[in-house]
Amino acid sequence: MEGRLTTAAEPLDILQKIFGFSSFRGLQEDAVSAVMRGEDALVLMPTGGGKSLCYQVPALCRFGMGLVISPLIALMDDQVAGLKQLGVKAAALHSELEADERVRLWEQLRSNQLDLLYVSPERLLTPSLLDVLKGRSLSLIAIDEAHCVSAWGHEFRPEYRELATIKEHFPDVPRIALTATADTRTRDDILSVLHMEKARVFVASFHRTNLFLQAQPKLSETRQVIDALERHMGQGAAIVYCGSRRRTERVAALLREKGFTALAFHAGLSPIEKRALLLRFRSGEPIVVVATIAFGMGIDRPDVRTVIHLDMPASPEGYYQQIGRAGRDGELSHTLLLYGGEAMARARYWLEQSQAPESEKRVMQGRLESMIALTETTGCRTQAILACFGEMLPSPCGHCDNCLHPPATFDGKEAAQKVLSAVYRTGERFGALVLTAVLRGKMTEPVERHALHKLSVFGIGRDRGESWWRMVIRQLIARGAIRLSGEHGSLGLHRETARPLLRGEVPVPLMEDASFKT
Ligand code: ADP
Ligand code: ZN
Repeated sequence: MEGRLTTAAEPLDILQKIFGFSSFRGLQEDAVSAVMRGEDALVLMPTGGGKSLCYQVPALCRFGMGLVISPLIALMDDQVAGLKQLGVKAAALHSELEADERVRLWEQLRSNQLDLLYVSPERLLTPSLLDVLKGRSLSLIAIDEAHCVSAWGHEFRPEYRELATIKEHFPDVPRIALTATADTRTRDDILSVLHMEKARVFVASFHRTNLFLQAQPKLSETRQVIDALERHMGQGAAIVYCGSRRRTERVAALLREKGFTALAFHAGLSPIEKRALLLRFRSGEPIVVVATIAFGMGIDRPDVRTVIHLDMPASPEGYYQQIGRAGRDGELSHTLLLYGGEAMARARYWLEQSQAPESEKRVMQGRLESMIALTETTGCRTQAILACFGEMLPSPCGHCDNCLHPPATFDGKEAAQKVLSAVYRTGERFGALVLTAVLRGKMTEPVERHALHKLSVFGIGRDRGESWWRMVIRQLIARGAIRLSGEHGSLGLHRETARPLLRGEVPVPLMEDASFKT
């Protein structure tokens, strides 16, 4: 039975009768129309923007079964479960099906009973499935999370590359690629890898008005995280992103000690552990997931009230996608990015040392620098991040940290000279801890051991406290005047950038930390 598929239904009708929504949102209608006409389409919308309906609706309107390629089993199962509840005949074909489920699925497939089939890319290209599909009418082929084709992206999946061949296998079926990754390079990659040069491209605004952005220098990580969770999590969920597996375990344990329900998620968990965690996360209980970026695609709990980054992401694209997991229900949600100067210096250093091809390194460096600039901006943070994606927000958002509390700036010329001299005079061998001790004239063990108290710079910054000097050091790192000089956290000068600052030739506007303002 091909049921509703034979009755060329109107998209709006399907939207209302099956999905229960009164109208399309934003670019959905145009994207749906393009596919209805049989054109290829590329849809770029932020997470939560409503990409799924862009292919689900035309798949149900057009004749034939819709094929959806999706990279994650959890994601597929979710979508299928949701669709089934709406009465849509949907199924997912992937490696974790039980034997009997698999038999039933093939049965449905052979007898033409499915409206929508979700499949992983590596499954799709098996001869047996291709064979069956070629004998079917397909309404469309949707390629979800299409940025996975791009080697520039942060979620590259080699098996997505193989999707280049679907054009040959199904030349007459319209294709619709969807992603929340906004940069133009990824966009171009998707179009060329999938041979979709003629596709209509739909780019939604990435501005999410319900996301309140905030970034703070890391001063007391634990206190800052707990404070943010207490303020913003409410009865919803929270995601805390960390840079490493070990850290996720440690932070989760720490939060549990403080009374939160906190679980760690990272790529090292077994599939069973992952599923169990996802189930709990989706159950709706107030829960904090402390995760690496492996916790990502398919996280569609609507009431994630806050996303916190304990380590600076490598690019604005990744960052925006991660914070995009907050507030999918449209309610006010907060994001907090904690960052530190040493981590910036380290990220730059390792990129410099990397064996990656020069062209790739330059792209990654560009992204890292945009990310660093984003943390230290004194202007509207929402404008700054949207600008990374080529989107100009005409006026400041009015609700990010910088809009609410414009950071005070001061002339840091003299402070910069003192710090840079201290770095230079101490032989570019020490990290921020020793440098601040030298500046403040503190007789610490390393100061004594290396006889740093005999230097002329010892005590030139007695008038200021430890955290104040750290703030200056951090901003000089962000400006590129100070960099990591070795693997052990020692800081050195970046000669070209530091020289005019040392000579006092350029103004050095520095930002007074707003860290403890909220
Ligand atoms: P994405 O895949 O872009 O992250 P989804 O397709 O999951 O986003 O949609 C996000 C949420 O918005 C879902 O809860 C969905 O039901 C809802 N939604 C999408 N389109 C509409 C619409 N036209 N009207 C009302 N709600 C919608
Ligand atoms: Zn703003």
